[in-house]
Amino acid sequence: MAQSIYSNYPPELSAAQQKFLVTAVKDWAIHNGLAVRPGPTVVPEGGNPNGVLATNAPVTLFPSPFPRTCFTEATALQEVYNKLYASITCNEEWLGEIVKGLIEVDDFVANLWKVHLAVQKEGYAQNLALGLYRSDYMAHVSPAGDTALKQVEFNTISSSFGGLSALVRQMHTELLTSPPGSSINYPSHPLLQSEVPPENTAVETLSSGLAVAHKAYGASKSTPALPLCVAFVVQDTERNVFDQHALSEHLKKTHNIPRGYLGSNIHSRRQLIPTTALPPPHSPDSIFEVTTVYLRAYYSPDEYTSSRDWEARTHLERSAAIKCPTVLNQLSGCKKVQQVLAEPTGLDHLTGFLNDVDASLIERVRATFAPQYDLSPNSKGRELALNPETALNHVLKPQREGGGNNVYKADIPGFLQSLPESDWKGWVLMELINPASNAQNVALRNDGEVLRGDVISELGVYGTILWEDTGKILHNNHGGYLLRTKGKEVNEGGVAAGFSSLDSVLLF
Ligand code: ADP
Ligand code: MG
Ligand code: MG
Repeated sequence: MAQSIYSNYPPELSAAQQKFLVTAVKDWAIHNGLAVRPGPTVVPEGGNPNGVLATNAPVTLFPSPFPRTCFTEATALQEVYNKLYASITCNEEWLGEIVKGLIEVDDFVANLWKVHLAVQKEGYAQNLALGLYRSDYMAHVSPAGDTALKQVEFNTISSSFGGLSALVRQMHTELLTSPPGSSINYPSHPLLQSEVPPENTAVETLSSGLAVAHKAYGASKSTPALPLCVAFVVQDTERNVFDQHALSEHLKKTHNIPRGYLGSNIHSRRQLIPTTALPPPHSPDSIFEVTTVYLRAYYSPDEYTSSRDWEARTHLERSAAIKCPTVLNQLSGCKKVQQVLAEPTGLDHLTGFLNDVDASLIERVRATFAPQYDLSPNSKGRELALNPETALNHVLKPQREGGGNNVYKADIPGFLQSLPESDWKGWVLMELINPASNAQNVALRNDGEVLRGDVISELGVYGTILWEDTGKILHNNHGGYLLRTKGKEVNEGGVAAGFSSLDSVLLF
Protein backbone atom coordinates (compact mmCIF):
# COMPACT_ATOMS: atom_id res chain seq x y z
CA MET A 1 0.00 0.00 0.00
CA ALA A 2 2.60 2.52 1.18
CA GLN A 3 4.85 1.48 -1.69
CA SER A 4 2.22 2.31 -4.31
CA ILE A 5 1.40 5.65 -2.73
CA TYR A 6 4.98 6.83 -2.77
CA SER A 7 6.07 5.44 -6.11
CA ASN A 8 6.67 8.11 -8.74
CA TYR A 9 5.65 10.80 -6.27
CA PRO A 10 6.16 13.68 -6.63
CA PRO A 11 5.99 13.81 -10.42
CA GLU A 12 9.20 14.53 -12.33
CA LEU A 13 9.58 18.16 -13.33
CA SER A 14 11.27 19.29 -16.51
CA ALA A 15 13.75 22.14 -16.02
CA ALA A 16 11.18 24.59 -17.38
CA GLN A 17 8.39 23.21 -15.14
CA GLN A 18 10.61 23.38 -12.09
CA LYS A 19 11.61 26.96 -12.83
CA PHE A 20 7.97 27.91 -13.28
CA LEU A 21 6.88 26.20 -10.06
CA VAL A 22 9.76 27.61 -8.02
CA THR A 23 9.00 31.13 -9.23
CA ALA A 24 5.32 30.69 -8.42
CA VAL A 25 6.13 29.39 -4.91
CA LYS A 26 8.69 32.12 -4.21
CA ASP A 27 6.27 34.86 -5.19
CA TRP A 28 3.32 33.28 -3.38
CA ALA A 29 5.42 33.01 -0.21
CA ILE A 30 6.39 36.67 -0.08
CA HIS A 31 3.01 37.86 -1.28
CA ASN A 32 1.27 35.99 1.55
CA GLY A 33 3.77 36.29 4.39
CA LEU A 34 5.06 32.71 4.22
CA ALA A 35 8.40 34.29 5.04
CA VAL A 36 11.28 34.56 7.47
CA ARG A 37 13.98 37.14 8.08
CA PRO A 38 17.12 35.95 6.29
CA GLY A 39 19.87 34.14 8.20
CA PRO A 40 23.59 34.07 7.44
CA THR A 41 23.18 31.50 4.64
CA VAL A 42 21.08 34.02 2.70
CA VAL A 43 22.63 37.37 3.56
CA PRO A 44 26.25 37.59 4.68
CA GLU A 45 26.91 39.25 8.01
CA GLY A 46 26.31 42.99 7.75
CA GLY A 47 24.36 42.56 4.50
CA ASN A 48 21.02 43.54 6.02
CA PRO A 49 22.03 46.46 8.26
CA ASN A 50 18.54 47.94 8.52
CA GLY A 51 16.77 44.61 8.96
CA VAL A 52 14.43 45.24 6.02
CA LEU A 53 14.90 41.97 4.14
CA ALA A 54 12.68 38.90 4.18
CA THR A 55 12.86 35.64 2.23
CA ASN A 56 10.54 32.69 1.65
CA ALA A 57 10.35 30.21 4.53
CA PRO A 58 11.87 26.84 3.53
CA VAL A 59 8.96 24.97 1.95
CA THR A 60 8.33 21.79 -0.02
CA LEU A 61 7.05 22.30 -3.53
CA PHE A 62 4.56 19.43 -3.10
CA PRO A 63 2.48 18.28 -0.12
CA SER A 64 3.70 14.96 1.35
CA PRO A 65 1.58 11.81 1.62
CA PHE A 66 0.88 10.99 5.29
CA PRO A 67 -1.16 8.02 6.63
CA ARG A 68 -4.69 9.10 7.47
CA THR A 69 -4.95 6.74 10.44
CA CYS A 70 -1.89 8.36 12.06
CA PHE A 71 -3.13 11.88 11.37
CA THR A 72 -6.57 11.11 12.80
CA GLU A 73 -5.12 9.45 15.89
CA ALA A 74 -2.76 12.37 16.60
CA THR A 75 -5.69 14.76 16.35
CA ALA A 76 -7.91 12.56 18.52
CA LEU A 77 -5.32 12.37 21.32
CA GLN A 78 -4.36 16.05 21.51
CA GLU A 79 -6.82 17.10 24.21
CA VAL A 80 -5.83 14.14 26.39
CA TYR A 81 -2.21 15.17 25.95
CA ASN A 82 -3.10 18.79 26.84
CA LYS A 83 -4.71 17.54 30.01
CA LEU A 84 -1.79 15.27 30.85
CA TYR A 85 0.71 18.15 30.79
CA ALA A 86 -1.61 20.51 32.69
CA SER A 87 -2.08 17.80 35.27
CA ILE A 88 1.67 17.13 35.60
CA THR A 89 2.21 20.88 36.08
CA CYS A 90 -0.31 20.92 38.93
CA ASN A 91 1.61 18.17 40.76
CA GLU A 92 4.59 20.15 41.99
CA GLU A 93 5.75 17.29 44.20
CA TRP A 94 5.92 14.74 41.37
CA LEU A 95 7.54 17.16 38.96
CA GLY A 96 9.89 18.37 41.70
CA GLU A 97 11.20 14.81 42.20
CA ILE A 98 12.15 14.61 38.54
CA VAL A 99 13.64 18.10 38.52
CA LYS A 100 15.71 17.35 41.63
CA GLY A 101 17.36 14.49 39.77
CA LEU A 102 18.45 16.95 37.07
CA ILE A 103 19.47 19.97 39.14
CA GLU A 104 23.01 18.89 39.96
CA VAL A 105 23.85 18.17 36.31
CA ASP A 106 21.83 20.83 34.50
CA ASP A 107 22.23 24.50 35.47
CA PHE A 108 19.44 25.63 33.19
CA VAL A 109 16.88 23.35 34.80
CA ALA A 110 18.28 24.29 38.22
CA ASN A 111 17.84 28.01 37.51
CA LEU A 112 14.29 27.55 36.26
CA TRP A 113 13.47 25.63 39.42
CA LYS A 114 14.97 28.46 41.49
CA VAL A 115 12.64 30.93 39.77
CA HIS A 116 9.70 28.74 40.70
CA LEU A 117 10.83 28.44 44.34
CA ALA A 118 11.40 32.19 44.66
CA VAL A 119 7.94 33.02 43.33
CA GLN A 120 6.32 30.25 45.32
CA LYS A 121 7.84 31.70 48.49
CA GLU A 122 6.27 35.09 47.77
CA GLY A 123 3.04 33.43 46.68
CA TYR A 124 1.98 33.19 43.04
CA ALA A 125 -0.15 36.19 42.05
CA GLN A 126 -2.03 34.20 39.38
CA ASN A 127 -3.72 30.81 39.77
CA LEU A 128 -4.48 30.31 36.07
CA ALA A 129 -1.98 28.99 33.52
CA LEU A 130 -2.14 28.66 29.75
CA GLY A 131 -0.56 26.03 27.51
CA LEU A 132 -0.12 26.42 23.75
CA TYR A 133 1.31 23.03 22.89
CA ARG A 134 2.54 21.05 19.93
CA SER A 135 2.81 17.28 20.07
CA ASP A 136 5.24 15.97 17.44
CA TYR A 137 5.06 12.56 15.78
CA MET A 138 6.29 10.41 12.95
CA ALA A 139 4.43 7.59 11.19
CA HIS A 140 6.59 4.64 12.27
CA VAL A 141 6.87 1.65 9.97
CA SER A 142 7.70 -1.51 11.93
CA PRO A 143 10.02 -4.21 10.52
CA ALA A 144 6.82 -6.22 9.79
CA GLY A 145 5.55 -3.33 7.66
CA ASP A 146 2.81 -2.01 9.98
CA THR A 147 2.42 1.74 10.34
CA ALA A 148 1.80 3.35 13.75
CA LEU A 149 1.83 6.85 15.19
CA LYS A 150 4.85 7.46 17.44
CA GLN A 151 5.57 10.62 19.41
CA VAL A 152 8.91 12.36 18.89
CA GLU A 153 8.35 14.85 21.72
CA PHE A 154 5.79 17.09 23.41
CA ASN A 155 6.48 20.87 23.41
CA THR A 156 5.20 23.04 26.26
CA ILE A 157 7.01 26.30 25.41
CA SER A 158 7.24 28.48 22.28
CA SER A 159 5.52 25.88 20.08
CA SER A 160 6.07 27.61 16.77
CA PHE A 161 5.10 27.49 13.08
CA GLY A 162 1.30 27.43 13.55
CA GLY A 163 1.07 30.64 11.52
CA LEU A 164 3.32 29.60 8.66
CA SER A 165 2.08 26.01 8.43
CA ALA A 166 -1.48 27.22 7.82
CA LEU A 167 -0.07 29.26 4.93
CA VAL A 168 1.78 26.29 3.42
CA ARG A 169 -1.48 24.35 3.46
CA GLN A 170 -3.14 27.27 1.68
CA MET A 171 -0.37 27.46 -0.92
CA HIS A 172 -0.39 23.72 -1.66
CA THR A 173 -4.18 23.80 -1.89
CA GLU A 174 -4.06 26.63 -4.44
CA LEU A 175 -1.49 24.71 -6.48
CA LEU A 176 -3.63 21.57 -6.34
CA THR A 177 -6.85 23.27 -7.34
CA SER A 178 -5.61 25.66 -10.02
CA PRO A 179 -6.84 24.78 -13.49
CA PRO A 180 -4.15 23.70 -15.97
CA GLY A 181 -2.52 26.67 -17.63
CA SER A 182 -3.01 29.06 -14.70
CA SER A 183 -0.08 30.98 -13.31
CA ILE A 184 0.47 28.52 -10.45
CA ASN A 185 -0.13 24.76 -10.74
CA TYR A 186 1.37 21.24 -10.77
CA PRO A 187 2.07 18.73 -13.50
CA SER A 188 -0.48 15.92 -13.38
CA HIS A 189 -0.19 12.95 -11.01
CA PRO A 190 -3.00 10.72 -9.62
CA LEU A 191 -2.22 11.67 -6.02
CA LEU A 192 -2.43 15.35 -6.87
CA GLN A 193 -5.87 14.93 -8.36
CA SER A 194 -7.47 13.12 -5.44
CA GLU A 195 -7.61 15.48 -2.48
CA VAL A 196 -6.39 18.68 -0.88
CA PRO A 197 -4.61 18.84 2.50
CA PRO A 198 -7.02 18.93 5.48
CA GLU A 199 -7.99 22.32 6.82
CA ASN A 200 -5.31 23.82 9.08
CA THR A 201 -6.79 25.80 11.98
CA ALA A 202 -3.54 26.33 13.90
CA VAL A 203 -3.88 30.13 13.93
CA GLU A 204 -7.48 30.02 15.13
CA THR A 205 -6.69 27.42 17.80
CA LEU A 206 -3.61 29.14 19.20
CA SER A 207 -5.00 32.65 19.15
CA SER A 208 -8.29 31.56 20.68
CA GLY A 209 -6.25 30.03 23.54
CA LEU A 210 -4.67 33.44 24.10
CA ALA A 211 -8.08 35.11 23.83
CA VAL A 212 -9.64 32.77 26.39
CA ALA A 213 -6.82 33.50 28.84
CA HIS A 214 -7.12 37.25 28.22
CA LYS A 215 -10.81 37.09 29.06
CA ALA A 216 -10.33 34.84 32.09
CA TYR A 217 -7.89 37.37 33.58
CA GLY A 218 -10.87 39.60 34.35
CA ALA A 219 -10.76 43.32 35.06
CA SER A 220 -7.66 45.47 35.39
CA LYS A 221 -5.92 45.01 38.73
CA SER A 222 -4.41 48.51 38.60
CA THR A 223 -5.67 51.74 40.17
CA PRO A 224 -6.72 53.60 38.16
CA ALA A 225 -7.78 50.78 35.83
CA LEU A 226 -5.61 50.32 32.73
CA PRO A 227 -6.48 49.01 29.29
CA LEU A 228 -5.61 45.30 28.93
CA CYS A 229 -3.40 43.54 26.39
CA VAL A 230 -1.63 40.27 25.54
CA ALA A 231 2.19 40.46 25.37
CA PHE A 232 4.30 38.33 23.03
CA VAL A 233 7.72 37.97 24.65
CA VAL A 234 10.16 37.52 21.79
CA GLN A 235 13.86 37.23 21.04
CA ASP A 236 15.49 40.41 19.70
CA THR A 237 17.21 38.30 17.05
CA GLU A 238 14.09 36.34 16.06
CA ARG A 239 13.89 35.49 12.35
CA ASN A 240 10.55 33.71 12.50
CA VAL A 241 8.63 36.95 13.03
CA PHE A 242 5.92 36.42 10.42
CA ASP A 243 4.80 33.23 12.16
CA GLN A 244 4.25 35.31 15.31
CA HIS A 245 2.54 38.11 13.37
CA ALA A 246 -0.01 35.60 12.00
CA LEU A 247 -1.18 34.84 15.57
CA SER A 248 -0.93 38.41 16.73
CA GLU A 249 -2.92 39.77 13.77
CA HIS A 250 -5.62 37.17 14.31
CA LEU A 251 -5.85 38.13 17.98
CA LYS A 252 -6.35 41.74 16.97
CA LYS A 253 -8.66 41.27 14.01
CA THR A 254 -10.85 38.39 15.19
CA HIS A 255 -10.83 38.86 18.95
CA ASN A 256 -10.22 42.61 19.03
CA ILE A 257 -7.56 42.18 21.69
CA PRO A 258 -4.67 44.68 21.86
CA ARG A 259 -1.33 42.92 21.74
CA GLY A 260 2.27 43.85 21.50
CA TYR A 261 5.82 42.58 21.64
CA LEU A 262 8.34 42.67 24.45
CA GLY A 263 11.98 41.90 23.76
CA SER A 264 15.01 42.78 25.83
CA ASN A 265 13.18 46.03 26.68
CA ILE A 266 11.57 44.05 29.51
CA HIS A 267 14.61 45.13 31.51
CA SER A 268 13.89 48.80 31.19
CA ARG A 269 10.15 48.69 31.34
CA ARG A 270 9.26 46.07 33.89
CA GLN A 271 9.37 48.44 36.87
CA LEU A 272 6.76 50.73 35.29
CA ILE A 273 4.01 48.52 36.63
CA PRO A 274 5.18 46.18 39.36
CA THR A 275 3.94 42.68 40.04
CA THR A 276 0.34 42.93 38.96
CA ALA A 277 1.11 44.11 35.47
CA LEU A 278 3.79 44.53 32.87
CA PRO A 279 4.69 47.52 30.73
CA PRO A 280 3.17 48.04 27.32
CA PRO A 281 4.87 46.90 24.15
CA HIS A 282 5.04 49.51 21.42
CA SER A 283 3.64 52.74 22.70
CA PRO A 284 5.61 54.43 25.46
CA ASP A 285 2.82 56.95 25.99
CA SER A 286 0.00 54.61 26.86
CA ILE A 287 0.45 51.97 29.50
CA PHE A 288 -1.35 48.67 29.16
CA GLU A 289 -1.73 46.00 31.78
CA VAL A 290 -0.67 42.62 30.46
CA THR A 291 -3.21 39.87 31.03
CA THR A 292 -1.31 37.09 29.28
CA VAL A 293 2.41 36.61 28.70
CA TYR A 294 3.04 34.43 25.65
CA LEU A 295 6.68 33.29 25.62
CA ARG A 296 8.33 32.87 22.25
CA ALA A 297 11.62 33.30 24.07
CA TYR A 298 13.39 32.14 27.25
CA TYR A 299 13.32 28.45 26.32
CA SER A 300 17.05 28.07 25.77
CA PRO A 301 20.03 28.72 28.09
CA ASP A 302 21.77 30.95 25.54
CA GLU A 303 18.93 33.46 25.90
CA TYR A 304 19.95 34.03 29.52
CA THR A 305 23.22 35.87 29.09
CA SER A 306 23.29 37.60 32.48
CA SER A 307 21.51 37.73 35.81
CA ARG A 308 19.32 40.47 34.29
CA ASP A 309 17.68 37.86 32.06
CA TRP A 310 16.92 35.63 35.02
CA GLU A 311 15.52 38.66 36.85
CA ALA A 312 13.30 39.41 33.86
CA ARG A 313 12.05 35.82 33.78
CA THR A 314 11.40 35.95 37.53
CA HIS A 315 9.53 39.21 37.06
CA LEU A 316 7.30 37.60 34.43
CA GLU A 317 6.67 34.64 36.69
CA ARG A 318 5.69 36.73 39.70
CA SER A 319 3.44 39.05 37.70
CA ALA A 320 -0.31 38.67 37.87
CA ALA A 321 -0.41 37.97 34.13
CA ILE A 322 -1.38 34.48 33.00
CA LYS A 323 1.80 32.82 31.81
CA CYS A 324 2.06 30.72 28.68
CA PRO A 325 3.85 28.78 29.98
CA THR A 326 4.60 29.00 33.70
CA VAL A 327 8.07 27.86 34.72
CA LEU A 328 6.55 24.64 36.05
CA ASN A 329 4.74 24.01 32.79
CA GLN A 330 7.95 24.62 30.87
CA LEU A 331 9.69 22.09 33.14
CA SER A 332 6.91 19.54 32.59
CA GLY A 333 8.09 19.47 28.96
CA CYS A 334 11.57 18.18 29.96
CA LYS A 335 12.61 15.15 27.92
CA LYS A 336 13.14 13.37 31.26
CA VAL A 337 9.39 13.63 32.03
CA GLN A 338 8.63 12.07 28.63
CA GLN A 339 11.06 9.24 29.35
CA VAL A 340 9.55 8.53 32.78
CA LEU A 341 6.06 8.40 31.25
CA ALA A 342 7.27 6.02 28.54
CA GLU A 343 8.73 3.51 31.01
CA PRO A 344 6.68 0.38 31.74
CA THR A 345 5.82 1.89 35.17
CA GLY A 346 4.63 5.04 33.37
CA LEU A 347 1.13 3.58 33.22
CA ASP A 348 0.64 4.28 36.93
CA HIS A 349 1.64 7.90 36.42
CA LEU A 350 -0.65 8.29 33.40
CA THR A 351 -3.56 6.76 35.26
CA GLY A 352 -2.92 9.12 38.16
CA PHE A 353 -2.69 12.23 36.00
CA LEU A 354 -5.63 11.26 33.80
CA ASN A 355 -7.84 9.84 36.52
CA ASP A 356 -11.12 10.69 34.78
CA VAL A 357 -10.00 9.47 31.34
CA ASP A 358 -11.06 6.08 29.94
CA ALA A 359 -8.44 3.33 30.30
CA SER A 360 -8.74 2.64 26.57
CA LEU A 361 -7.81 6.24 25.75
CA ILE A 362 -4.84 6.09 28.13
CA GLU A 363 -3.73 2.94 26.30
CA ARG A 364 -3.90 4.84 23.01
CA VAL A 365 -1.69 7.57 24.48
CA ARG A 366 0.76 4.91 25.62
CA ALA A 367 0.75 3.33 22.19
CA THR A 368 2.27 6.56 20.81
CA PHE A 369 5.35 6.24 23.05
CA ALA A 370 8.58 4.94 21.58
CA PRO A 371 10.88 3.13 24.05
CA GLN A 372 12.90 5.55 26.19
CA TYR A 373 15.47 4.85 28.87
CA ASP A 374 17.50 6.50 31.60
CA LEU A 375 21.23 5.84 31.78
CA SER A 376 21.56 4.75 35.42
CA PRO A 377 24.25 2.17 36.32
CA ASN A 378 23.41 -1.37 35.13
CA SER A 379 20.33 -0.11 33.29
CA LYS A 380 19.13 -1.34 29.93
CA GLY A 381 19.48 2.25 28.66
CA ARG A 382 23.15 2.37 29.55
CA GLU A 383 23.76 -0.96 27.87
CA LEU A 384 21.97 0.09 24.68
CA ALA A 385 23.72 3.47 24.56
CA LEU A 386 27.26 2.18 25.08
CA ASN A 387 27.05 -0.73 22.66
CA PRO A 388 28.04 0.65 19.21
CA GLU A 389 25.58 -1.71 17.47
CA THR A 390 22.49 -0.96 19.53
CA ALA A 391 23.37 2.76 19.73
CA LEU A 392 22.74 2.92 15.97
CA ASN A 393 19.01 2.60 16.58
CA HIS A 394 18.86 5.41 19.16
CA VAL A 395 19.01 9.14 19.83
CA LEU A 396 20.38 10.72 23.02
CA LYS A 397 18.54 13.82 24.27
CA PRO A 398 19.35 16.48 26.86
CA GLN A 399 16.77 18.70 28.62
CA ARG A 400 16.69 21.29 25.84
CA GLU A 401 14.36 22.80 23.25
CA GLY A 402 14.74 24.39 19.87
CA GLY A 403 16.68 21.75 17.94
CA GLY A 404 20.36 21.01 17.46
CA ASN A 405 20.95 19.52 20.93
CA ASN A 406 20.69 15.76 20.40
CA VAL A 407 23.37 13.15 19.77
CA TYR A 408 22.59 10.46 17.22
CA LYS A 409 23.39 6.82 16.53
CA ALA A 410 27.11 6.01 16.18
CA ASP A 411 28.09 9.22 18.01
CA ILE A 412 26.34 8.18 21.23
CA PRO A 413 28.90 5.84 22.89
CA GLY A 414 31.88 8.13 22.32
CA PHE A 415 29.91 11.18 23.36
CA LEU A 416 28.88 9.59 26.64
CA GLN A 417 32.41 8.44 27.31
CA SER A 418 33.61 12.02 26.86
CA LEU A 419 31.29 13.15 29.70
CA PRO A 420 31.81 12.45 33.39
CA GLU A 421 29.55 9.54 34.29
CA SER A 422 27.88 11.70 36.91
CA ASP A 423 26.45 13.89 34.10
CA TRP A 424 24.73 11.05 32.29
CA LYS A 425 21.54 11.44 34.30
CA GLY A 426 20.88 14.71 32.45
CA TRP A 427 20.29 12.70 29.25
CA VAL A 428 17.66 10.24 28.05
CA LEU A 429 18.00 7.57 25.39
CA MET A 430 15.19 7.10 22.89
CA GLU A 431 14.69 4.45 20.23
CA LEU A 432 14.62 5.90 16.73
CA ILE A 433 11.28 6.13 14.99
CA ASN A 434 11.48 4.89 11.39
CA PRO A 435 9.13 6.58 8.94
CA ALA A 436 8.50 5.18 5.45
CA SER A 437 11.79 5.02 3.61
CA ASN A 438 10.54 5.57 0.06
CA ALA A 439 9.00 9.04 0.34
CA GLN A 440 10.38 11.84 -1.82
CA ASN A 441 9.81 15.57 -2.18
CA VAL A 442 11.41 18.75 -3.54
CA ALA A 443 12.28 21.59 -1.18
CA LEU A 444 12.86 25.26 -1.85
CA ARG A 445 15.25 26.40 0.86
CA ASN A 446 15.28 30.00 2.00
CA ASP A 447 18.49 30.73 0.12
CA GLY A 448 16.73 29.69 -3.11
CA GLU A 449 18.42 26.29 -3.36
CA VAL A 450 16.15 23.54 -4.70
CA LEU A 451 16.72 20.03 -3.28
CA ARG A 452 15.07 16.83 -4.45
CA GLY A 453 15.43 13.52 -2.67
CA ASP A 454 14.33 10.95 -0.13
CA VAL A 455 12.58 12.56 2.79
CA ILE A 456 11.20 12.00 6.28
CA SER A 457 8.23 13.94 7.61
CA GLU A 458 7.33 14.92 11.18
CA LEU A 459 3.75 15.87 12.06
CA GLY A 460 2.95 18.32 14.87
CA VAL A 461 -0.55 18.82 16.25
CA TYR A 462 -1.48 21.99 18.13
CA GLY A 463 -3.49 22.16 21.32
CA THR A 464 -4.38 24.77 23.91
CA ILE A 465 -5.50 24.48 27.50
CA LEU A 466 -6.28 26.91 30.32
CA TRP A 467 -6.42 25.58 33.86
CA GLU A 468 -6.45 26.55 37.53
CA ASP A 469 -3.70 25.40 39.87
CA THR A 470 -6.37 23.25 41.57
CA GLY A 471 -6.45 21.19 38.37
CA LYS A 472 -9.79 22.56 37.17
CA ILE A 473 -9.75 22.92 33.38
CA LEU A 474 -11.44 26.01 31.93
CA HIS A 475 -10.66 25.47 28.23
CA ASN A 476 -9.23 22.49 26.33
CA ASN A 477 -9.04 22.52 22.56
CA HIS A 478 -7.00 21.30 19.62
CA GLY A 479 -6.71 22.14 15.94
CA GLY A 480 -4.21 22.68 13.19
CA TYR A 481 -1.01 20.90 12.34
CA LEU A 482 2.56 21.34 11.17
CA LEU A 483 4.30 19.03 8.75
CA ARG A 484 8.07 19.39 8.58
CA THR A 485 9.97 17.46 5.97
CA LYS A 486 13.72 16.88 5.83
CA GLY A 487 16.27 14.89 3.88
CA LYS A 488 16.26 11.25 4.97
CA GLU A 489 19.95 11.36 5.89
CA VAL A 490 19.47 14.35 8.23
CA ASN A 491 19.18 13.46 11.91
CA GLU A 492 17.91 16.74 13.35
CA GLY A 493 14.53 18.19 12.50
CA GLY A 494 13.90 21.89 13.21
CA VAL A 495 12.83 24.38 10.54
CA ALA A 496 14.25 27.38 12.43
CA ALA A 497 17.43 25.40 13.11
CA GLY A 498 17.79 24.97 9.33
CA PHE A 499 17.15 21.24 8.91
CA SER A 500 13.57 20.93 7.68
CA SER A 501 11.13 22.55 5.29
CA LEU A 502 7.51 23.41 5.98
CA ASP A 503 5.08 21.06 4.28
CA SER A 504 1.43 19.99 4.34
CA VAL A 505 -0.23 16.57 4.23
CA LEU A 506 -2.03 14.57 1.58
CA LEU A 507 -3.87 11.87 3.54
CA PHE A 508 -4.00 8.34 2.18
P1 ADP B 1 13.77 19.52 20.22
O1 ADP B 1 12.97 19.79 21.45
O2 ADP B 1 15.12 20.14 20.27
O3 ADP B 1 13.01 19.81 18.97
P2 ADP B 1 13.37 16.69 19.55
O4 ADP B 1 13.14 15.64 20.55
O5 ADP B 1 12.18 17.11 18.77
O6 ADP B 1 14.06 17.94 20.27
O7 ADP B 1 14.50 16.23 18.55
C1 ADP B 1 14.90 17.00 17.44
C2 ADP B 1 14.73 16.23 16.15
O8 ADP B 1 15.44 14.99 16.24
C3 ADP B 1 13.32 15.85 15.81
O9 ADP B 1 12.66 16.89 15.12
C4 ADP B 1 13.51 14.61 14.94
O10 ADP B 1 13.81 14.97 13.61
C5 ADP B 1 14.74 13.97 15.55
N1 ADP B 1 14.31 12.95 16.53
C6 ADP B 1 14.14 13.11 17.86
N2 ADP B 1 13.73 11.96 18.45
C7 ADP B 1 13.65 11.05 17.46
C8 ADP B 1 13.30 9.66 17.40
N3 ADP B 1 12.97 8.98 18.50
N4 ADP B 1 13.33 9.05 16.19
C9 ADP B 1 13.67 9.72 15.07
N5 ADP B 1 14.03 11.01 15.06
C10 ADP B 1 14.02 11.69 16.23
MG1 MG C 1 10.96 20.54 21.48
MG1 MG D 1 11.31 18.92 18.30
